[in-house]
Amino acid sequence: MEGSVLDAYDYIIVGAGSAGCVIAGNLAAAGNSKILVLEAGPRDRSPWIHLPIGYGKTYYNPAVNWMYETEPQSGLAGRKIYQPRGKVVGGSSSINAMVYSRGQAADYDGWAALGNRGWAWPDVLRLYRRMEDHDLGASAWHGAGGPLHITDTSKAVHPLTDLFIKAGLEAGLPFNPDLNGETTEGVGTYQITTRGGLRESAAGAYLKPALKTGRVRLETEALVTRVLFDGRRAIGVECRQHGQLKTFHAGAEIILCGGAINSPQILQLSGIGPGSLLAEHAIEVVADRSAVGRHFQDHLCYDHVYISKLPSLNDDLLPLSGKIRVALAYLFGRRGPLSLSVNQGGGFYRSRAGLDRPDIQLYFSPLSYEKAQPRVRALMKPDPFSGFSTSVSPCRPLSRGYVAIRSPDPAAAPKIEPNYLSAPEDVETLLTGAHFLCGLAETPTFKTLVDRELKPGGDRHSDAALIDDIRQRAYSVFHPSGTCRMGLDPADCVVDPALRVHGVAGLRVADASIFPTVPSGNTGAPAMMVGEKASELILGR
Ligand SMILES: Cc1cc2nc3c(=O)[nH]c(=O)nc-3n(C[C@H](O)[C@H](O)[C@H](O)COP(=O)(O)OP(=O)(O)OC[C@H]3O[C@@H](n4cnc5c(N)ncnc54)[C@H](O)[C@@H]3O)c2cc1C
Repeated sequence: MEGSVLDAYDYIIVGAGSAGCVIAGNLAAAGNSKILVLEAGPRDRSPWIHLPIGYGKTYYNPAVNWMYETEPQSGLAGRKIYQPRGKVVGGSSSINAMVYSRGQAADYDGWAALGNRGWAWPDVLRLYRRMEDHDLGASAWHGAGGPLHITDTSKAVHPLTDLFIKAGLEAGLPFNPDLNGETTEGVGTYQITTRGGLRESAAGAYLKPALKTGRVRLETEALVTRVLFDGRRAIGVECRQHGQLKTFHAGAEIILCGGAINSPQILQLSGIGPGSLLAEHAIEVVADRSAVGRHFQDHLCYDHVYISKLPSLNDDLLPLSGKIRVALAYLFGRRGPLSLSVNQGGGFYRSRAGLDRPDIQLYFSPLSYEKAQPRVRALMKPDPFSGFSTSVSPCRPLSRGYVAIRSPDPAAAPKIEPNYLSAPEDVETLLTGAHFLCGLAETPTFKTLVDRELKPGGDRHSDAALIDDIRQRAYSVFHPSGTCRMGLDPADCVVDPALRVHGVAGLRVADASIFPTVPSGNTGAPAMMVGEKASELILGR
C-alpha cells in the first residue's frame, strides 16, 4: 500500500457535513476518545457561508461545492439537473437555504414499521428536541438550550410573504404559526437555522466546540479514497491530501458521513457494492451488496413566477439604493433580508380528498431571479423588476434512481441517475400542485398583487401545457437520500437499524443516504437528527 501510517484514532468520521459534525461534537463531549474528521473541502472561512443571503454566492462556487449534475432526465425533457452539495466544513449545512423542517411524524413511524426499531416519531422527536435551541422555547414540540439555534422568522419576513399567507388562507389552507409544531399542515413562515442573523451550520453548532476539547483532529482538503479492511473488518481509511496518499487507522470504528452521493461512492470504491459494478471497474469485492447506491430519492420542485405591482426583494437586492438600505439594516442589528432565507413562506397541504396527511410542500420567495449557468457566474441575479415566485414540491415521490461510480478514480464524479418523474403518479401529483398555484394566483389578494404571470404564462394552464412546463422547468431542491438505506434485509438495504453496514464490521453510515424514505419536508434537520442517533448508537446509549 502506498502512503504512510500516520496516526491511530478510535473513531474516524468521513465528511464534516450535517451529520458528521453532530457525531464529532457528541463523541468529543462524551470524553476520552480520539477522533479524526476527514473533510474533502476547505475550512468554512468564506464570509458568504456565514451571511445567510450568501446562499446565492455559494450556489455555483466550486471552491465549496461539488456542483454535481445528474444524467439527462427523460422525464424532464432530457435536461441534466443541477445537484449542488457542500464541499466544505459544515457540508451542505454550510451552503443550504437554511429552512428548518423535520418532516411528518408518520414519516418516522413508517421507518419504524419497516423494521427500524428506535426510529419512530417519539424516538426521533426526543433527538430533535435535544438538538434544538428554538426561538419558540421549550415545549412538547421543541427543545431549548441545545446546540442548534432555530430562528422563528414570522416577524421578520418581507411584506409580500404576509400577502402570500393571506392568499393561502383565501385558497382554503389553515394558518400554521409553527410549521414544526403539532402538525405541519397549513401555511406560514419557515423557521431557519440561523443565530443572531448568521448561518448556524452543523459545523458552528457542533464541530467548532468539539475542536476546542482537543479530542478532535480535523483534516481538510482530505479526499477519502477508500475504506481499508482486514478481511471484512474496516480498520482504517486511505485519503488524498495535498497530492499525498495517506492512511489513518481506527481502533473502534469508521463512520461514513459523505452524504447521499458520496457515501455510496466511497463504499463502492472500497469494494462494497453491486458485484457487477465492482467487476466492471476491477475493484476487489469485500462484500457484494446490490443495494449500495440504489433507492435514490429526491424532491422535485416547480414554480410559477410573477411580476408584482408592489416592491419585492428584487427592489432591495438589485439597485444601489436598495443594497445600501439592506446592508445598513444588517450592519446595525443583523436584521433584514440579508439575514433570511430566500424561502420565506410556505407550508404543507393535501392535494386531494381522502389523504390522511399533507403530500405537497409549498414555498414562497419574495424574489425572482435568473439562475446563471454553472461555472459562468457564481451567483443568482435578481430580475430587473419586482418579482416573486410560488412553488410546489411533492413530499413523497415514488420515482427511484441510483448512484454508481463511473471510474475507479475517487476524484471522478459518480453517475447520478434520479429517474425523476419515472413514476406516473409523480407527474400527476406535480400537475395537481401546478393547478393549485394557478388557483392561488386567482385569490383576491394575489389578483390585486400580480401585474403579470411570467412563468408559465397566463395562457399555459391546460393540463398538457402545465405538464410540458413541468418537464421543461422543474428542478431539484437538493434532497437526495436513500442510497445507503437503512433496513433489516441485507439484499435490499445497506445499513441495519444501528447504522452498521450489513456484511462487514467496524463501519457505519450516518447521513441522508440512510433514510429509508425521504422525509416529507427538507432534509437538513433529518440528516442532523441521524447524526444525533448515530452518536447514541456508537456510544452504546
Ligand atoms: C443548495 C442547497 C440548498 C438546500 N436547502 C435546504 C434547506 O433549506 N433546508 C434543508 O433542510 N435542507 C436543504 N438542503 C439539503 C440539506 O442541506 C442536506 O440534505 C443535508 O445537509 C445533507 O446532510 P449530509 O450529512 O447527508 O451530507 P452533507 O452535509 O452534504 O455532508 C457531506 C460531507 O462529506 C464530505 N465528503 C464527501 N465525500 C468525501 C470524501 N470522499 N472524503 C472526505 N469528505 C467527503 C463533503 O464535502 C461534505 O462536507 C439543501 C441542500 C443544498 C445543496
